[in-house]
Formats: sequence, structure tokens, C-alpha cells
Amino acid sequence: MAISSRNNKKRYISTHFRVALIYVAISSLVLLFLNIYTSRSSQDLFYKNKEATMIERCHFAASEIKAIGVINRGTVEKAVKNMGSLRVERLIITDSDGIVIYDSLEEGSEVGKSIHLQEVVQALQKNDVFTSTFENGTIRSQAATPIMSYGTLLGCVYMTEYDAEQGALITSLQNNILTITVCLEIAIILFSLLISRTFSARIDNLIASMHIIREGDYSKPVKIEGHDEISVLGEEFNELRSRLEAMDATRRQFVSNASHELKTPLASIKLLSDSILQNDMEPETVREFVEDIGNEADRLNRMSQKLLSLSKADAKLLEPSEVIQISDTAQKVVRMLTPLAQIRNIRIALHVLNFCPILCNDDDLYQILFNLVENGIKYNRENGDLTITLNRIRNTAILKIKDEGMGIPEESLPHIFDRFYRVDKARSRSTGGSGLGLSIVRDLVEKHQGKITVESTIGVGSVFTLYFPVFDTEKSS
Ligand code: ADP
Repeated sequence: MAISSRNNKKRYISTHFRVALIYVAISSLVLLFLNIYTSRSSQDLFYKNKEATMIERCHFAASEIKAIGVINRGTVEKAVKNMGSLRVERLIITDSDGIVIYDSLEEGSEVGKSIHLQEVVQALQKNDVFTSTFENGTIRSQAATPIMSYGTLLGCVYMTEYDAEQGALITSLQNNILTITVCLEIAIILFSLLISRTFSARIDNLIASMHIIREGDYSKPVKIEGHDEISVLGEEFNELRSRLEAMDATRRQFVSNASHELKTPLASIKLLSDSILQNDMEPETVREFVEDIGNEADRLNRMSQKLLSLSKADAKLLEPSEVIQISDTAQKVVRMLTPLAQIRNIRIALHVLNFCPILCNDDDLYQILFNLVENGIKYNRENGDLTITLNRIRNTAILKIKDEGMGIPEESLPHIFDRFYRVDKARSRSTGGSGLGLSIVRDLVEKHQGKITVESTIGVGSVFTLYFPVFDTEKSS
């Protein structure tokens, strides 16, 4: 579960599994610390209690011995008898030199011998001493106190005790704490694994969707659950998926339109050349057919050039922008298209401001104006007027191209900037149109932060208006 592989490519440890591991490690440390701390504390509590009782018993014994005045084996034994049961394991009483005067142990009695126990040595230095150890479920305690009479050291009392009852209590307490700790740890591990699995399942779901999309199927959005970063990731991913889907649909449409458009002149060329080869034709007819083939080849050429400019605009290549005067480019375009206008006896009037700089690419502006002016000639009526005006309102350059042609039907207006869209296919084809000119214009205008609008009246004419931000160096510097 933790280590996953996809298509035998990369193996990885899921982030959530790692987080769960860290979480388990930290909680284990905390629980271990709590376990040790509570066990030690409870043990200390028992020891403190024991210390108080045993030191109290030592003091009692010391005061009883002190009361007899003359300390020797007989008097001490008598005094001990009078004390009654002290409830200790062993009781030793020494004189001030550490020689044992009384030992409650019969077998292995130390009476008459010098004793060198640590506790006894310290008690003879006039200290109360208590030590305790916990072994094999039993508390073993030793206590010793000096016997003092008016500031003089008479000897010491030393006693030991084995407490199995309290030892059992400590053992059971420690076992209980350990059981609780283990249960808690198991619960934490299970909980962490469960959370890790849930998160991993959601991430895996996302990865699986990405994989499907990578294979080219955009139809399946990710199911979004919860309200956290993963659901935000899912939403973002779905957004990306829809965009890719739209882009893919546009691309497919474009490819199918383009191939269809390219097929038509190719089919004509094939038909015309087959006719020339198969039929015994008059030289005059052959000439006409060859001329038609030439025209179709020109059309193919124009179309492939437009497709090229379109893909250039699509790629949004960052060609360096420069400050250019619209009037200069407009004049160049008019000069170039005047012969075409003359064929149809169309008058071109140019009313442009000489000084109206914009930040653009000269080739791009040329292409924009060329397409619009060419359309203004192609779709104009014979002997019609084509007027180009350039004005400036505040920081916006406004360029209008107005013709007196057939106009564009209202229902076609929203589509004329679409790729391959033509209002009248037959007419457009006869004028050499591809339906790409205006979509190139719009892409280029938007690339340079401009805007284009169109107004048209059937039988009266059309006006295309371009808006560009003026790049006024004097103002901006
Ligand atoms: P085309 O190469 O066919 O001219 P465009 O993209 O330039 O392609 O124009 C798309 C369509 O818009 C044209 O086919 C034409 O029907 C219409 N159109 C463009 N400009 C004008 C105009 N000035 N007057 C009338 N119709 C126009």
C-alpha cells in the first residue's frame, strides 16, 4: 500500500504514508516518555511513603534505647522486647563505634562484630538514612538513624524491610500503564494507516485521471470529495482538463477544416490536368485549363501562407515590438493594394493622423491592415469608395476601414472572425477567399493589446474599427 508503482515505471512512497509514519514515531516517543515518567513517579511515591514510615520507626526505636541510659546487650534486648512488633525484617542496634549490640536475626547474627554497611556508617555520622530498591516485584528498604543523648552519639538503629504487597501493587500499576500505552499505540497506528489510506486513495484517483488524460481521453473529470487542498487540486485539474478538451476540439476542427479547404483546389487541379491528358482539346481550351490550374495553385499558395501566419499568431511568438506610426504602415498597404482596387474601379481615401505611435510589430500591423483593406476591396461594389480614417481619443488610436459593399448579414457577424468562416462560400471562393483573413486579424490585434469591432448594414457597407493603446513616449517618460 505504501510503496506504489504505476506501469512499472516509478516506485514511490506516498507522502501521507510518510506523514503517518512520522506521526506514529512521534506519538510512540511521547507515549514511551509518559510511560516511563508515570512508572517512575508512582514508584517514587511508594518510596517516599516507605521512607517516612521507616524513619519514624527508627526514631521510635532510637528514643526507646536512649531512655534506658546504660547501653549493653542485656539492656538493649530488654528495650527491644518492650517496643513490641516494629514490623521489620531485621533490626540491628550498634554502639557508637559500629559494633553490633543487637541483631534480630538469629542465624547469621552479627552481634559483637563491627558492621560496615553504608547506611550504618552514615547514621553514625549523625544522619538519617533511607535507601530502597525494587526487584523481582518486592520493595527492599533500609533505614538507619543515630541514637543521640544530649548531643552525644550512643549508637545507631538500622532496620530492613521487604514489602511484597506494595511491590505487587507497583507491578500491577506499571503493567496497567503499559497495557494502556500499547492499546493507545495500536489505536494510533491503525488510525494513521486509515487516514493515510484515505488520502492516498484520493491522490491515486487524481493520478489515475491524469493518466487517462495523458492517453488523450478528456471525457472523465475527477470526482471531487471534501473541502481541502486535494479537492482544490481536483477542481484545478478539472479546469485544466476542460481547457485541454476545448483546445483539442478546436485543433481537430481546424485540422479537418484545413484539410478540407486544401483538398478543394487540389481536386480541381487533378480534374483539370486529367481532362487535358484524356481529351483531344483545342490549344485555346488547353490554355484556359492551364490558366485555371495556375489560379488554383495560387489559391493553395495564399492559403498555406495564411495558415503559416495563423500558426505564428497561435504560438504567440514574442517578436520584438517597436514604436511605429500607423499612418506609415497604412500608406504602404494602400500603395500595395491600389492595383487591385483599380481593377474594380474602387477609390481609396486615406485620412490618417501623421503622428499616432503605437507599440506593435510592423509586419503584424501590415498583415492586419492588408487583410482588412483587401476585404474592403474584394467585398466592395464596383466603383465604390473605401475610406480609411485614423483618429485619436485620449490614449487610444482608432482606425476605421469603411467600405460600400454588400454588407454582412447580422446572423453572420458573430462568426466572421472564426477560422474558415465565410458568409457566401461560392462568392468568397471566387474572390480567392479562404475564411482565414479575419481570424488572423483578430489574433494579431489581441496579441498587441488591441481590440476590433465590426458594424455592417446589408447593401450599405461595413465598417471595421481597430483600437490600439497609443504609445506616447513624451507622455510616458
Ligand atoms: P476570406 O478570405 O474569405 O475573405 P475573411 O476571414 O477575411 O475570409 O472573411 C470572412 C468572411 O467575412 C468573408 O468570407 C466574407 O463573407 C465576410 N467579409 C469579410 N470582410 C467583409 C467586408 N468588408 N464586407 C462584406 N463581407 C465581408
